[in-house]
Amino acid sequence: MPRISDHTVNEVRDAASLPELVRDRIQLVRRGGRWWGPCPFHDETAPSFCLLPDESRYYCFGCHESGDALDWAQEIEGASDFGEAIELLAERFGIEVKYAESSPREEAQREAVRQRGELLDRAASYYVEYFWKAEEAAQAREYLLGRGFEEELLRRFRIGYAPSSGTALIQRASKGGFGQQDLKDAGLASARGGQLRDFFFSRIMFPIADARGRVQGFGARTLDPNQRAKYVNSPEGPQFRKRHLLYGLELARSSASRQGWVVVAEGYTDVMGMAAAGVDAAVACMGTALTTEQLRTLRRSVGEVRVCFDGDQAGEQAAWRTAEAARGVPLALSAVQLSEGVDPGQLGGTEDGRAQLKQAIDNAEPLVTCLIRARAARAGASARERDRALGEITDLLRGLPDSVERDEAVRVATSELGLSRSLEERLRGALGSAAPGGETSAPNRVIELSPRGALERRVLSLGLAASAEIRSAHLDTLSPEVFDEPEHRQVFVLVTSGTGVDQWPAEVAGLGTALRAEADHEPNNEEVQEAVYRLQLDELQRRISTARSEGDETGLLEALQLQSGLRARLRGDE
Ligand SMILES: [Zn+2]
Repeated sequence: MPRISDHTVNEVRDAASLPELVRDRIQLVRRGGRWWGPCPFHDETAPSFCLLPDESRYYCFGCHESGDALDWAQEIEGASDFGEAIELLAERFGIEVKYAESSPREEAQREAVRQRGELLDRAASYYVEYFWKAEEAAQAREYLLGRGFEEELLRRFRIGYAPSSGTALIQRASKGGFGQQDLKDAGLASARGGQLRDFFFSRIMFPIADARGRVQGFGARTLDPNQRAKYVNSPEGPQFRKRHLLYGLELARSSASRQGWVVVAEGYTDVMGMAAAGVDAAVACMGTALTTEQLRTLRRSVGEVRVCFDGDQAGEQAAWRTAEAARGVPLALSAVQLSEGVDPGQLGGTEDGRAQLKQAIDNAEPLVTCLIRARAARAGASARERDRALGEITDLLRGLPDSVERDEAVRVATSELGLSRSLEERLRGALGSAAPGGETSAPNRVIELSPRGALERRVLSLGLAASAEIRSAHLDTLSPEVFDEPEHRQVFVLVTSGTGVDQWPAEVAGLGTALRAEADHEPNNEEVQEAVYRLQLDELQRRISTARSEGDETGLLEALQLQSGLRARLRGDE
């Protein structure tokens, strides 16, 4: 990745308007001098996501996500790193990207990537043109139009056709100045029988793009029943990595992030079928199951993934592997269940089918409980089979955090497998879960602070918002060691030294935003004082406990005295 020049980075930072970016995705309302909206990072009903008063950063009071326009570009818009975020924002706000001086080798690499991208894009356009014009593509056109896909939809997905001649693309590309190596590198040509030939021929072409809509490669389908492979993909390479790509992502992303969920189907035409039914937030995985990488990519835009795989055993296995791949990715998974033998691609072709499809998507159920039901049904009545099913289900549930969802899954497993009370206990024991109906945790990233953590945080946020005079009057009476959390200790030093939040090191920048958000006004003397007293009281309480347990009479007396003094001051006796 070539380095983008500092000048461009600064220009982008100045030009990128966070409110504009956020408004592209969510509706904001003005309240108490700030813009508020439903948080795109976690599920919620009452808006707790806001822009800070200067509108340079966002912050969510529910899940504590925070950041600036660059973070937004990465978390929500799909940029995979800082450089991409700069490029994306530059494009959005009309800034020309200039790269810093780089070595000739880096320069050549960058140029190669750019050329490959251009070649792939031109190839996609060429296939589209050929699909609509060529005589030999008539069958493909009839096939897709006959399945109920309209021209507008086929054009939106840039459906194309690769000529049968086997050299048409090579000829076209060489006229455009692309060499043989370029074509090979892009996975568009390969040597066959000592000759360079088009990699794809006589096939319907589905371009596969990254989150930003840049073509990375193709999926290609033949209509010839004599062809060995019904589908062929671009060869795996630096640009085309199946584990990372999702078909239709660039078209699905904005409605997915708006509504908070996305449907994942198995095939390209399934995605088109969903789009025909008005479900734009649909993608296809590039293999049979979703990979962890793909789930992470989806996590950037949504909190829920609705899996829509075939109703047969292969589909069940794919769903099972998807649930395993999702371990550690904070996403809710649900299953869209269609009647056996139909797929979204077919359903999207008729009005009835579209209604059926939409309903099935709306009624998606938690994936894990669906898997348990299906697995238990397959086990049947045999005790040995049921034992095996229980073992597999236990493994599956082990990957889930202790949650309402897992509790429900245990309940389903118990009833579907007809588990005795003692087997149920053993299952719960194996999962290390609490008693049924106990713990609840929402499927999001809400972080709970300890009571002490909250006291520390209040001191820091008020200290940050207070005038320099009030701040030093009270915070200077504290030492950094009073703060339990190492992060709080570091921030305390920054706050008391008067370092501006923009100058804070990256590892505490998020906390800085949160603290700025929490103090919604400039506090007066009493507020800061009270927060400091409360923290000191908590600290004294600890000293008292330690002194008691160690039998340290002197220490105990001293601490008790300090405590009563502080309490009196808190009451305002002094
Ligand atoms: Zn949130």
